[in-house]
Amino acid sequence: MSLEHIATLIDGRAVAAQIRAEVAVRAAALAERGVRPGLAAVLVGDNPASQAYVRMKRKACAEVGIESFYHELPAQTTQAELEGLVEALNARSDVHGILVQLPLPAHLDEQRVLSLISTAKDVDGFHPLNIGRLAMKGREPDFIPATPAGIMRLLEAYQAPFAGANAVVLGRSNIVGMPCALLLTKRDCTVTLCHSRTRDLPEVVRHADILVAAVGRPHMVKGDWIKPGAFVIDVGTNRVPDPSAKDGSRLVGDVDFEAARRVAGAITPVPGGVGPMTIAMLLENTVKAAERSLR
Ligand code: NDP
Repeated sequence: MSLEHIATLIDGRAVAAQIRAEVAVRAAALAERGVRPGLAAVLVGDNPASQAYVRMKRKACAEVGIESFYHELPAQTTQAELEGLVEALNARSDVHGILVQLPLPAHLDEQRVLSLISTAKDVDGFHPLNIGRLAMKGREPDFIPATPAGIMRLLEAYQAPFAGANAVVLGRSNIVGMPCALLLTKRDCTVTLCHSRTRDLPEVVRHADILVAAVGRPHMVKGDWIKPGAFVIDVGTNRVPDPSAKDGSRLVGDVDFEAARRVAGAITPVPGGVGPMTIAMLLENTVKAAERSLR
């Protein structure tokens, strides 16, 4: 690429705004049929980041006509109490989606809790059955986890060529990297899933037509790792010190954005890329759950 080359900016805010507008129309159509889509958010403990996420999700719900129910439980909540709440929410007809904000305090068994959520209300898509279906040929999950779904929607919006493309995913977490690799596989990419033990990461990344970075290390991916013309999706949300900022810090991604955008074909900014998509997809999943409840 020439020195003047600058990648297309993948505008997550714009794509997310469009999705939220479509969700609002669908929620209004449901309301006309007497159904107000409802999302129950369960938060255990007082982790400030989790509280902030739940606040953002509830505000976004209100803006598109989704009712949100909030269950804030103390940090010492027992497994039985939490499971009792999930079962009660499963049984409620005004709750179409259930989200249990992760991480849960260490004494709680996350897998057991996620497995209890009705798959029809699993709007986070973390139920093992839904994840299993994602991994299987010819099967479709009821819901796809919001961040990976948002990543795929961004790639689609900017016409990434999927079939036969080399896709490299950095990070193998249950909520981002692993489901993202499964989704890219479903779209006929040749996928390499990398993690902390991967050898010679720069060389692996250099083959990526599509790169998804979900590691949580500021600016780990350097400009000269990027294949010219690649689609780069930066999921990383890392707070780094910045004396010029009002609160002394700013958010950066896992990719060295300034260097990468001189090589990539298209790239997401941080913030304003994947972040807004995550909430938009959660809203879309909730309205989908409410629509299905009418069938
Ligand atoms: P996790 O910490 O669960 O997973 C990180 C992954 O990165 C692990 O698979 C780990 O490997 C891998 N890893 C760590 N160091 C390296 C390395 N040096 N080289 C290669 N791989 C490495 O993170 P999450 O998936 O939950 O989140 C990743 C990032 O995405 C975070 O910054 C998070 O804040 C952000 N995020 C953003 C969202 C959004 O909406 N924008 C939503 C969710 C997350 P191993 O498995 O071997 O330990």
